[in-house]
Amino acid sequence: MLDYNAIAINTSPAISTGKQHLSGLEYAEYLNQMVQSFKLNVNENCKVLTLKKFKNIFIIQTNLGDFQCRDLIWATGEYKFPSIKPFKEAELCIPFSKIKSYTDFKEDNYIVIGAYESGIDVAYNLSKNNEVEGILLIDKTDTIKVNEQDPSISISPYSRQRILDNSNTNLDKIVIYDDVEINEVVKTQDGYSVFSKEDIFTTTQPPILCTGYLGGEYQIKDFFEFAQNGKPILNDFDESIKTKNLFLVGPHVQHQNVIFCFIYKFRQRFGIIANHIAQYYGLDNEKTIEKYRKNVMYLDDLSCCEHNCIC
Ligand SMILES: Cc1cc2nc3c(=O)[nH]c(=O)nc-3n(C[C@H](O)[C@H](O)[C@H](O)COP(=O)(O)OP(=O)(O)OC[C@H]3O[C@@H](n4cnc5c(N)ncnc54)[C@H](O)[C@@H]3O)c2cc1C
Repeated sequence: MLDYNAIAINTSPAISTGKQHLSGLEYAEYLNQMVQSFKLNVNENCKVLTLKKFKNIFIIQTNLGDFQCRDLIWATGEYKFPSIKPFKEAELCIPFSKIKSYTDFKEDNYIVIGAYESGIDVAYNLSKNNEVEGILLIDKTDTIKVNEQDPSISISPYSRQRILDNSNTNLDKIVIYDDVEINEVVKTQDGYSVFSKEDIFTTTQPPILCTGYLGGEYQIKDFFEFAQNGKPILNDFDESIKTKNLFLVGPHVQHQNVIFCFIYKFRQRFGIIANHIAQYYGLDNEKTIEKYRKNVMYLDDLSCCEHNCIC
């Protein structure tokens, strides 16, 4: 079976590092090995500023000059693009992805808005700081109670284990408010007031915002059409239905109820795009696709994913 975190067949970050749970740096090391092995042409510190399309050619303007291509694969992730406007004055909050370390959070009380993976990570880590006495963890749904098989709609067993560990007395500092939707934050003389329809919560510190991610595709939003849930609408080859030859890979790929927000899921769609492009150039890809299929890296029939698996 393919390593959960591998992005290419016949590779395994677990084997190359000798670890089951990798740190970020170790995973980066694995990605660097991929760059070297596959001789990828990576331009670091090169920011795409604008995108234009003339006839069939994309013009990609960057701080290092312009690039051109016929096929463009947009893979800008989500982490750097938090949804910072989920309610009024949300900009008063600290977005989760701006937190580099929990060591500086030494006040006695905090409010965390959003109790999914990021919110639980924040609450759990803040509870370990001796100076912190109370953390309110607020969510508009009851995410912690939902126990679905798909980790895209239910918190991971790891987070559940962390937040519901009876032996961890630090967790007594966390008070969870579920089914409470925040609609405004107001700066006050003493700190911040956080409003829901029925309640007002107060804190001396800026609330921490863990309400999800907009997605890097919003940088070029005119090239996509978006569904009501904010995800881009893609065809069977993960191509924008609005712009031919613009493909999306990564955690925001979604086809109706099938959500590809984890590496082990979205890596199964790389081959679909590659094959579609290869066909345009008349390349015979059959053997390669067979290899990808055997390694669970080529998912073109999504009907199997619309039902729960018996595992
Ligand atoms: C808090 C959090 C925890 C997660 N945990 C997991 C997990 O445990 N397991 C899992 O499988 N998935 C997890 N995910 C999902 C995660 O988003 C993906 O697994 C993975 O990181 C996405 O990879 P990516 O390469 O698509 O995007 P990213 O890793 O986000 O990389 C996108 C890259 O695009 C670059 N970029 C963006 N805009 C531009 C631009 N204009 N010009 C040039 N470069 C640009 C960025 O600098 C960045 O390097 C998590 C996501 C979040 C937010």
